[in-house]
Amino acid sequence: MSFSAGVKTELLRAGAEQELCCAEAQLYGTLLFGRDFSSRSMSLRTESRALADYVCAQLHEIELASAQLRQAGRKWEVVVRPEDRLRVLERFGHGQNEVSLHIATENFACENCRAAFLRGAFLACAAVTAPERQYHLEFAAGYKRLARELCGILEEVGLPTPKLCQRNGVWLAYYKDSAQIEDALALLGAQLAMLDLVTVKIEKDMRNNVNRIVNFEVANVGRTSAAAAAQLLAIQRLRQRQGLDSLPPSLREAALLREENPEASLQELSELSSHSMTRSGINHRLKRLIALSEAE
Ligand SMILES: [Zn+2]
Repeated sequence: MSFSAGVKTELLRAGAEQELCCAEAQLYGTLLFGRDFSSRSMSLRTESRALADYVCAQLHEIELASAQLRQAGRKWEVVVRPEDRLRVLERFGHGQNEVSLHIATENFACENCRAAFLRGAFLACAAVTAPERQYHLEFAAGYKRLARELCGILEEVGLPTPKLCQRNGVWLAYYKDSAQIEDALALLGAQLAMLDLVTVKIEKDMRNNVNRIVNFEVANVGRTSAAAAAQLLAIQRLRQRQGLDSLPPSLREAALLREENPEASLQELSELSSHSMTRSGINHRLKRLIALSEAE
């Protein structure tokens, strides 16, 4: 099951126990953001048999309409019969000759009705990407006005204004920010999905931190090796040119120490030195060796 389908299953369950006004607001959201909502055609297409059954049952329960359930490829189609369409439109405050759809806010009776409406709209037209892939939640509407008004309802329930864009003739209201998606899922009633999102985010953050630490260490190792390589080259030159015995004892010791421990850090060289040279003492001597090797 996709993440989106899981969210919808959870939302259907969340909507099962609510006040009648909220149940109707949810049904209104699903119908309005379904495939068609007019006197000519009124239908919903969904991959979820449970949602299709729920909508049919709700329409029947409030004695509003009887609807047909049809299978259309991999989807289910709920079709409101022609003789019932006007009654549905009227019930939800819509005239029969509207040019572009809008949201009739008189359907919101209690303070929870807006969230229920959004839940219904989500069930019909929204999708949310699995957080492992990316953070993305979008509502799709066939009309700009409908999409704009949906943004308004999202604001009214305290969520941030979603971004709006048009793609393939459809208006999309979407969130890309993980915290905003978490808030939206929680408000719609998908607490489990919201927790999934939080968990994935924490795991991602931890992985990023580990990567950052590993990268930092790799960079340090790189620096150490480059410095050691330069020191070894200098020592080799001095050995060929004048022999290490010609060097002062402290420099000679540092040179031999480095040659014997080509991969050791300065700290490790300090710990290995027989005359307990300090880290900075070793560093100083190795720099002198490089300078000497470069001097003609
Ligand atoms: Zn209500």
